[in-house]
Amino acid sequence: MAKIALKVDVDTLRGTQEGVPNLARTFEHFDLKATFLFSMGPDHTGWALKRVFRPGFLKKVSRTSVIEHYGIKTLLYGVLLPGPDIGKLAAKEMRAIDQAGHETGIHTWDHVAWQDAVHHKDASWTKAQMQKSWDRFIEIFGHPPATYGAAGWQMNEVAFEQLDRWGIQYSSDGRAKPNLVPYRLALGSGNTKHVQYPTTLPTFDELIGVDGADAFSAVSKLLEITQSNPNDQVFTLHAELEGQKLLPAFERLLGAWLNQGHELVTMGQLHQSWEATKQLNKIAVLPMTWGAIPNRSGELIIQDF
Ligand SMILES: [Zn+2]
Repeated sequence: MAKIALKVDVDTLRGTQEGVPNLARTFEHFDLKATFLFSMGPDHTGWALKRVFRPGFLKKVSRTSVIEHYGIKTLLYGVLLPGPDIGKLAAKEMRAIDQAGHETGIHTWDHVAWQDAVHHKDASWTKAQMQKSWDRFIEIFGHPPATYGAAGWQMNEVAFEQLDRWGIQYSSDGRAKPNLVPYRLALGSGNTKHVQYPTTLPTFDELIGVDGADAFSAVSKLLEITQSNPNDQVFTLHAELEGQKLLPAFERLLGAWLNQGHELVTMGQLHQSWEATKQLNKIAVLPMTWGAIPNRSGELIIQDF
């Protein structure tokens, strides 16, 4: 039975306080566990909203969609209002996810700063951002993160090396086609110890608005990809989207995936299953590669597009 890992990226304060508890209720209803990756520091969404989600997507979901999805306050963070500190204001919501038995890890310190800059930033900037997220994670949860997933699928060599220094065993920092092939990275300093499990399925915001697709057409498209597909997959969802306005469509997707016979798991469970079958001994070692993927702007860490 093929596994689909559910990776929840949490980008904003509102997503952490509202989308995350909504998703926790949905997962409880389906008796599922997921991997939640948190933004630990300031919410600067207002700086660069359009770069987080494709403008065409926001136009499509509804006429007033930007405000509906984010709330007017979120759009002003970093512009007219100071960016609120997510880890300080939403520690309770984060800990509740841990206590409910979900897997928790780091998404980023400052999402907008990281996504816009890390590709070209030096070692000291990269390490400082990551260290802040690590310290805050320990402060909130009282234990190290199980895993990591890069904001905006943006990384650099130093960031990948830092995951090994932290002792992270498995991480999901890039994108690949719908056929999960875990890999290690060949960096200038050698091969990474940790294993990369890239996101293999398109995200809701990459499907909605393309050829007129709404959220439920996006669900159909995802189901077409996974129907009779024996490959494991990693699916990334967003607390701000599937945890809020797109929750009904996401619930339909979860039910349909279970009906297709897929096992919905955390990133940790996915990693354990690959470890258990010893397939990790012979996995690919690939260079760090940048490239574009359909319906998302800019270059990302990719495996094989
Ligand atoms: Zn994100």
